[in-house]
Amino acid sequence: MKSSIDRRSALKLTVAGGALLATPQIMIRGAHAQMSESELEPSGFNRFKLGQFEVTTILDGKRAYENTAETFGIDQPPETVAELLAGEYLPADHWMNSFTPTLVRTGDDLVLFDTGLGEGARQNGLGRLRERLGAAGHTPEDVTIVVITHFHGDHIGGLMEGEAPAFPNARYVAGQVEYDFWTAPERLSGPMESGARNVEAKVKPLADKMAFIGDGDSVVSGITAMAAFGHTPGHMIFMLESDGKQLVLTADTANHYVASLQRPDWHVRFDVDKEAGVATRKKVFDMVAADRLPFIGYHMPPPAIGFVEKVGEGYRFIPETYQLDF
Ligand SMILES: [Zn+2]
Repeated sequence: MKSSIDRRSALKLTVAGGALLATPQIMIRGAHAQMSESELEPSGFNRFKLGQFEVTTILDGKRAYENTAETFGIDQPPETVAELLAGEYLPADHWMNSFTPTLVRTGDDLVLFDTGLGEGARQNGLGRLRERLGAAGHTPEDVTIVVITHFHGDHIGGLMEGEAPAFPNARYVAGQVEYDFWTAPERLSGPMESGARNVEAKVKPLADKMAFIGDGDSVVSGITAMAAFGHTPGHMIFMLESDGKQLVLTADTANHYVASLQRPDWHVRFDVDKEAGVATRKKVFDMVAADRLPFIGYHMPPPAIGFVEKVGEGYRFIPETYQLDF
């Protein structure tokens, strides 16, 4: 992913140097430099069958951050984090985050899990779920159920468009613990204030159309919620099962395919309860590894689908290639 950024930057420099546009070859490169992300990544979605379910992951966008060790392994010496990353050919001074909502078509429903960053992020090239839903052959009106795994801004940001619900025909499903946490009056001051205000703006207007669930509850037949608390106090993950085929939507249980999976014990800045985050990561990915299940992680590298193998103190991420084609 870094190389594509570098390539784009390099091409922009080429365009900026106007004299270089003199030869046809350079003009072609210049034309590429004008391309938006949508042209470079034409579809932004990935689709496969899981039994009778049709599962589509949709890239809402990508965003680069600086200094990986300030987010992953914040309880570790930065050199230790850098060393692990270098072993996977990753830099320590930048990391790339990506945001991938999932759409599941069951027999009767079109279920959307999380809504991306929404309209507020579009000026920065994110918040593309809506547009890419169209590329994937659906309209926002087609979505019958919106499930929210937890109430961080990159998951609830796309719930509303202006003052109106972004998915006007949908009902909503969210964790009871999560809702109670973020809507408690004391959250409106102190460290959770901006998050709580965002929940007020994006989630609360929809609350009367929302079903609140807990561990073991079903969204629809074949989609079962599992408590995975820690990243947030009411963070929920989901087991999909159709015709005996299973897949886990792990949401934000692990947020970096190397740092969080290979070193599940490392503390993560985004985890509200760091130790609960660790315990949940191990519990969930022990299960994913032991049962050789495919999983979709909201922040795994696009298209965000893979497997894990237990190695040493953690897990090796195995990106899905064609395992789910058969
Ligand atoms: Zn997230």
